[in-house]
Amino acid sequence: MSDAAQLLARSNSLRRRALACTPGGVHSNVRLAGPQVFIDHAHGAWLYDVDGENYVDYLLGQGPNFLGHAPAHIVDAVAAACRKGLIYGGQHKLEVEATEAVCEALGWADMVRFGVSGTESVQAALRLARGATGRTKVVRFEGHYHGWLDNVLTADGPGGWGTASAGQLASHLDDFLVLPWNDAGVLRDTLDRHRDEIAAVIMEPIMINAGVIEPRPGYLEAVREACTRHGVVLIFDEVISGFRLGLGGAAGRYGVRPDLATYGKAMAGGWPVSALAGRADLMEHFGTGKVNHSGTFNGSVMAMAAVQATVRHLAEDPPYSAITAHGTALMDGLRSIGTSHHLPLRVAGLPVAFHVSFGDAEVYDYRSLQQLDLGRYTRLAPELVGHGLWVAGRGVWYVSARHGADELDAALTRFDKAITEWVS
Ligand code: PLP
Repeated sequence: MSDAAQLLARSNSLRRRALACTPGGVHSNVRLAGPQVFIDHAHGAWLYDVDGENYVDYLLGQGPNFLGHAPAHIVDAVAAACRKGLIYGGQHKLEVEATEAVCEALGWADMVRFGVSGTESVQAALRLARGATGRTKVVRFEGHYHGWLDNVLTADGPGGWGTASAGQLASHLDDFLVLPWNDAGVLRDTLDRHRDEIAAVIMEPIMINAGVIEPRPGYLEAVREACTRHGVVLIFDEVISGFRLGLGGAAGRYGVRPDLATYGKAMAGGWPVSALAGRADLMEHFGTGKVNHSGTFNGSVMAMAAVQATVRHLAEDPPYSAITAHGTALMDGLRSIGTSHHLPLRVAGLPVAFHVSFGDAEVYDYRSLQQLDLGRYTRLAPELVGHGLWVAGRGVWYVSARHGADELDAALTRFDKAITEWVS
């Protein structure tokens, strides 16, 4: 057996078993392209695999482990709540407390409906916008991700933005107009042209999924103004940015209020729970029963306990400045390593979530992002994992409240070693 095979002997054995009973050996297609290493446990900002290797985790389960892995006080709060039952099929006090906590944290939202995944809360938002306006079309943007279902999953193909999966009905995308993001003129023209057909504009208010690109100054304000003028529902998909950019998410950071917004990930310390928040006059369409939103697991005791404990923690002991300090030092450190190896390493975005790639271009939307050498970083990512840095091939790094001085030191040492071996 080679050293590498020996090193991952237990992972490889589990992988063989997984492949026999699970398609691709993974339970989410996003992980098909990821490292085929099996994790034994996680603590703080570290992952430990079944073969005894450790990794500084900058993927954070695709975002949810914002407070680090299994934060003790949140695990305790959830465990305590669960001793009284898990799902009642009836209302309970924690639902009210968690909802009030989210509304208070966001500052702009009147009401919340909880769900289980970001994908389904996005679907609830789209249905609500259509139900409230009586219109069918939705504007969305190149490179923005809104979940894996038929009407939102898209890929950039030779004929433009179309289906991304076999079995996905192209007709489900018919009512979507896909525009370049960060261009207020294009959005205004489109809303002017289709004014009575468009129910909603949905966007990641900061395009984290592709490149961690911030909105241009004034862009979100211009979108807000155009939507208000045409009676179009503005939906911010804050499944990643929510609670990560600050308690108020991107809406709070950039000072622009959406009509509806979706949340998940950083809202609940790792528990699977999502939320749709919004203006009362829109949300009440669920309350009257005019628009259907349902789900067996919505508002489960464990989810509500996790949301309540997490949001309370974020409000009472905000981790944001420590995360920003770590992220800033990490970004600077990665850049210096790139420079010392004479590599055109590009590290851009925000300290709480940033993007690593190669190349130099002015990046403001999906198309300009393609000017970078994204493939080069995708090829580097497995080397980084092999050197103990848990990162994804698409270049987005997430920082948690548990990344401190030790993690910074380990991350930069490992990054330097990986690069040294990779370029030699
Ligand atoms: N919206 C955005 C912006 C996301 O980043 C994601 C997932 O990464 C989703 C929606 C879908 O959320 P989930 O994977 O919880 O269904």
